[in-house]
Amino acid sequence: MSLSAELGQWHLQGLGLSPDAALASGLKAMTMPMHTGMDQFAVHGGQLAVGGVPLNLLAARVGQTPFYAYDRALLRQRVAQLRQQLPATVKLHYAMKANPMPAVVGLMAGLVDGIDVASGGELQVALDAGADPVEISFAGPGKRDIELRQACASGVLVNVESGRELELLARESQNLGRPARVALRVNPDFELKGSGMKMGGGPKPFGIDVEQVPGMLARIAALGLGFEGFHLFAGSQNLNAEAICEAQVKCYQLALRLARDAPAPVRSLNLGGGFGIPYFPGDRRLDLAPIADNLARLCERARNELPLARLVIELGRYLVGEAGVYVTRVIDRKLSRGQVFLVCDGGLHHHLAASGNFGQVLRKNYPVTIGNKADDLLRETVSVVGPLCTPLDLLADRMSLPVAEVGDLVVVYQSGAYGASASPQTFLGHPRCAEVLV
Ligand SMILES: *Cc1c(COP(=O)(O)O)cnc(C)c1O
Repeated sequence: MSLSAELGQWHLQGLGLSPDAALASGLKAMTMPMHTGMDQFAVHGGQLAVGGVPLNLLAARVGQTPFYAYDRALLRQRVAQLRQQLPATVKLHYAMKANPMPAVVGLMAGLVDGIDVASGGELQVALDAGADPVEISFAGPGKRDIELRQACASGVLVNVESGRELELLARESQNLGRPARVALRVNPDFELKGSGMKMGGGPKPFGIDVEQVPGMLARIAALGLGFEGFHLFAGSQNLNAEAICEAQVKCYQLALRLARDAPAPVRSLNLGGGFGIPYFPGDRRLDLAPIADNLARLCERARNELPLARLVIELGRYLVGEAGVYVTRVIDRKLSRGQVFLVCDGGLHHHLAASGNFGQVLRKNYPVTIGNKADDLLRETVSVVGPLCTPLDLLADRMSLPVAEVGDLVVVYQSGAYGASASPQTFLGHPRCAEVLV
């Protein structure tokens, strides 16, 4: 008997089933552990380890399920890898809306060159985290008066996205007796091809249409505001290096053209980000090498064409997405007309994206495993659902997973970005999830 078949037998016995009964109920012993394609977390004795802590111990330490766990070493490693590949003169910013947990922002603030915030609330977290206000930039299509005041008072760079914002910022600056720092967020006249979410090109609520930029630059001059540069952000979750390079070149050329009408030299040229991570079978990891080469060429051009400008890229998902898991406990196991459902204590309300309801057109399974049985060779096809009374609360749709029982820990990989803060936690009144940085 092969080792795997033997292990299969052993598990079947553990479940109190004969092999025949097991087969009849749809259980299958596989010859190899299933490949989720995820190898960033070590597995020891079947336990997935986050930050080196085995999952069963981590769950006990957190004191509750469900929870998100983020791995410090993986966050550090990702930044180090980017630093190593990208030209040294490119500034690396963290777009904290991807994961605003204060401990994560605190760690990232010490690793990257700046933090991008998208609200007054995020600004507060970034400042508390110890981020240097000089290196904070603030974008968002609807900044309220109070947020513009907070931005001006704290001395951060405001990526202005409308004429109204410009006038308000000038007023706040005057009231506070403090110069405002202004960049224009530009809605380009092209799109980032192949992006999961497009945020530039065509009619958009984000930024200022290119056509309106010269008029805005004239107004900045008339108001005597401190102009620092341009911000262009074309889209998110892109795995196509060529498309990202093309967008970066176009953004650069656009900024160069717009700079001719600027009231001051461009000091900051934020080319956005959009770097994606693999979620689904067939997703190919983003190739950084061509992007690094492309940025090096743009830095070289900028030395002559925009000599005071620093190029900035702002990344959210790419920095934190792969360093986090979502962990939820199986609270019931149901067999319905031949299909097994693992019902968990968490789901859509904590992890909207994994349920497929965060902007996805077609629902696909995130990579999932049973985190305390990650090595198990005995597998079965199950659906993992949450406790919410809606069919949308689905974490895995008919997936092959290690055989799980009540009490086991379901792990959703690729959950470090757009997780807890991007989910409707109050929906249906279940408890909130915890978050830990390990
Ligand atoms: C959301 C956002 C980001 C981060 O996008 P990711 O896809 O997570 O990297 C960066 N910049 C701006 C302006 C954003 O709105």
